[in-house]
Amino acid sequence: MLKGISLSKGVAIGKVYLLDSSKFCILKQKLDAGKVDDEIKRFRQAIEKSKKQLQEIKQRASKVADKYAVILDTYTLLLEDEVIVNDTIENIKINKLNAEWALTETLGKFTKLFNNMNDDYLKGKQDDLDLVVHGIIRNLIGHSQEKLSEIDEPVILVSHTLSPSDTMAMPKNLVLGMATEVGGKTSHVAIFASALGTPLVSGVKDLTAKVNTGEQIIIDAIDGHVIINPSDEQLKHYRKKQDNYRSYEQKLLENIHQPAKTLDGTHVKLMANIESPDELKSLRKFGAEGIGLYRTEFLYLMSKTPPTENELYENFKKLAQGIEPLPVVIRTLDIGMDKQIEGIEGEPENNPALGLRGIRLSLSDPGVFIHQLKAILRASLYGDIRILYPMISSVEEFVEANELLQTAKDDLKKQQIPFKEDILVGAMVETPAAAICVEHLLEVADFISVGTNDLIQYLLAVDRTNESMASLYQPFHPAVLKTLKGIFKAGQDSGKEVSICGEMGGDPLATAVLLGLGNQGELSMEVHSIPKVKKIIRKISLEESKQIADHALSLTSTEKINSFILSEMQTRFPSDFDRDTTFEEKFLPVENQI
Ligand code: PEP
Ligand code: MG
Repeated sequence: MLKGISLSKGVAIGKVYLLDSSKFCILKQKLDAGKVDDEIKRFRQAIEKSKKQLQEIKQRASKVADKYAVILDTYTLLLEDEVIVNDTIENIKINKLNAEWALTETLGKFTKLFNNMNDDYLKGKQDDLDLVVHGIIRNLIGHSQEKLSEIDEPVILVSHTLSPSDTMAMPKNLVLGMATEVGGKTSHVAIFASALGTPLVSGVKDLTAKVNTGEQIIIDAIDGHVIINPSDEQLKHYRKKQDNYRSYEQKLLENIHQPAKTLDGTHVKLMANIESPDELKSLRKFGAEGIGLYRTEFLYLMSKTPPTENELYENFKKLAQGIEPLPVVIRTLDIGMDKQIEGIEGEPENNPALGLRGIRLSLSDPGVFIHQLKAILRASLYGDIRILYPMISSVEEFVEANELLQTAKDDLKKQQIPFKEDILVGAMVETPAAAICVEHLLEVADFISVGTNDLIQYLLAVDRTNESMASLYQPFHPAVLKTLKGIFKAGQDSGKEVSICGEMGGDPLATAVLLGLGNQGELSMEVHSIPKVKKIIRKISLEESKQIADHALSLTSTEKINSFILSEMQTRFPSDFDRDTTFEEKFLPVENQI
């Protein structure tokens, strides 16, 4: 049994589909000093895996032709070549580079060398080297989008990581569960898996080296376990656990037609975060009261060329018509950090989380931004559409974005294309700067939406996508609670709408605290969380929530706040927060459980 972290709850049982790649894009990444040894280990493991794969191919080949099997020995020798291996390891060590990039640089050096030779035999060796190096890189990356769309039976995806474009390319109905070696709680693969209700366990060390396509695997994304080639006993046990979890989720759906009102009558609007209009159907199923966050970057990830203004317009129009009269908040492109798009991204950056991200990129290259704004404006005639700017860190940025919005409006007027002139425009509050100056932002914005995923990352200086930092990524850190209280207070004073659209908004454990801190207007979350959050809201009063929040604020350590909130919620909602709610069959003797 391997241990990871559960990022989207549920249990999945099926056959492994290990993502492999023949075509790939390698990004240069700078490593933290503490990660260099792990990276060298990862490189060595990829070489070992390549050797094993060659061995298997050789065995199969020798049945066909001995001569061919001998050729494969050349490849094995190349894999053992000290010069190639040492050159790459040196590069990882000295320049703190990711293994894929360092190896590509080594390959580049050898290619130059081979090209300068006049010997045809040696030149031919270049092809062998290419083949071997690409084999190692395939093992390092562990996936390919091209292959993803070829999946034609139910599988469990196993990969080193999954990029947003991978998740877009996969046949969602055939992916029963996912397991990755890296990825944090608010990484995009986690958000995507939660939106689909697909179980996901991440942070499983060396997983891709331990499994092969076709092997049976269990993803226990309740307790964060992965079991490869389970025994019959284990299969029986986890099938039961899967059933138990499904019945629990089914039961929660019973409240979807009830309003999300506290015992003392405060109505909190529960909205959905979506990434594609295809999710409209599930919005109704889970009782969403509108779309609080439409992450438009996924539209750009689905095709090799950016969508045209017309394609964007059609997409937004379909959404607005599909959900009308309920509102849709369309967030403008938030590229950068873990969401890179070919052709739109800027220069490679050493620290992309603090670089040209979100609105900064839009302002520095307004072409794509104005395109998007015009499409949103045109679609605004078909429903209650609002605009949201991501990664705002100053009032000037918001004002500058609005000036470009005015340019978009002027263009449309010139073209005599109708749109809604008084469309509402909001700012995401997800940088400490925006949170601290939120009153000023509220003077210019029509509404604000708190992006806790990034806000926590930037407040606590903890990379949200790094699973090895997961223990430091603490939504109930005193700094986070104090900051949120300040934002909600400013929101109430301004009389403008404040919503939360980060993952914290969809965490039922946080529901009472957020209410008590002053978030009584709107929460936007992945749809599967709506019934869970609603259940809490309907069974608590504002007064009780305030008491919980006030006490949490009086505590000085995250650990104390975490255990206080957990014990409060366990006492009030034993069936939802009981530590023993692992959906295990209690009667199973412990030794038979795993
Ligand atoms: C956030 O940062 O909380 C947010 C909702 O945006 P994203 O997760 O897309 O960065
Ligand atoms: Mg964000």
